[in-house]
Amino acid sequence: MRPVSPDEAGLARAARALQAGGLVAFPTETVYGLGAAVTDGGAVARVYAAKGRPAHNPLIVHVASLEAARRLGAFDGRAELLAEAFWPGPLTLVLPQRRPNRLSALATAGLDTVALRFPGHPVARALLAAAGLPVAAPSANPSGQTSPTTAAHVLADLGDALDPLRDLVVDGGDCPLGVESTVVDLSSPDRARLLRPGGLPRAVLGGLIGPLLGPEAEAPLRSPGLLGRHYAPRLPIRLDACEVGPDEALLAFGPDPLMGARIVLNLSVDGRLDEAARNLYAHLRRLDASDAAAIAVMPIPEEGLGEAIADRLRRAAA
Ligand code: AMP
Ligand code: MG
Repeated sequence: MRPVSPDEAGLARAARALQAGGLVAFPTETVYGLGAAVTDGGAVARVYAAKGRPAHNPLIVHVASLEAARRLGAFDGRAELLAEAFWPGPLTLVLPQRRPNRLSALATAGLDTVALRFPGHPVARALLAAAGLPVAAPSANPSGQTSPTTAAHVLADLGDALDPLRDLVVDGGDCPLGVESTVVDLSSPDRARLLRPGGLPRAVLGGLIGPLLGPEAEAPLRSPGLLGRHYAPRLPIRLDACEVGPDEALLAFGPDPLMGARIVLNLSVDGRLDEAARNLYAHLRRLDASDAAAIAVMPIPEEGLGEAIADRLRRAAA
């Protein structure tokens, strides 16, 4: 897989690769995605294969406009409200599919619903517009492992799994948000369910369409990707640490990191949750590459973006 820059020539090349069935990793405001034309079952199958992702875990379909999303999903009043307010942005809506459509059944794991997102990152927007087709894109990392927030992460994770001639990574620098999109299920008319906390805080959403159910309860059944251990580094993770062991690396948060650790990275010295989200995966990857035996994580408040950070850390530790 070759890196290209996000200039006009690079984006045109990446768009052509997508149209020809190639895989293109690209930056979004959340994490890097591994994209394939969603109409091309063979390309989508290669995404699952490259990631080692189970076929029952459906992919988010990325589009370049609200109009493009409306062609694939049935928008009701709530979906219109959320899309108008938060798209382009880190929000994924699970809606009933509109048929007929050309979505590969593999991308939706054979469900009657489709997960749609119109991302806000300028490089993602330009690529989707140039390709002129919806792009299925999970995070560009092996299934279950830490997500990539730089092109170098993608190359390190998938460089060997992808085709050096057909597949590309668009290097758009660091992802500004750093945690995955918030996934809201609006597929049943009488309830809205938060399937995954993410880059758009729950309270912001609830303000528009009322309180959201979940993610607990039935979420794992409704959204297969929510099952079990995920986002996990190689080393074991210990949450809510109040002290550090001699062979532990410390993932600190705030102005008073625990004393005594040999290896320390601080998510945010100022205790800012947006900075912590942006640093989360890169810091986990660096600590994971150290010679420590485990990673101890200091407590992080579960408000705003903290809900998504805590969710990822809990599942990394599961
Ligand atoms: P990721 O692993 O980051 O690609 O996450 C995508 C998430 O969206 C996973 O939790 C999927 O299970 C969920 N998802 C994608 N499509 C659907 C769908 N049609 N219905 C419910 N959840 C979905
Ligand atoms: Mg992922």
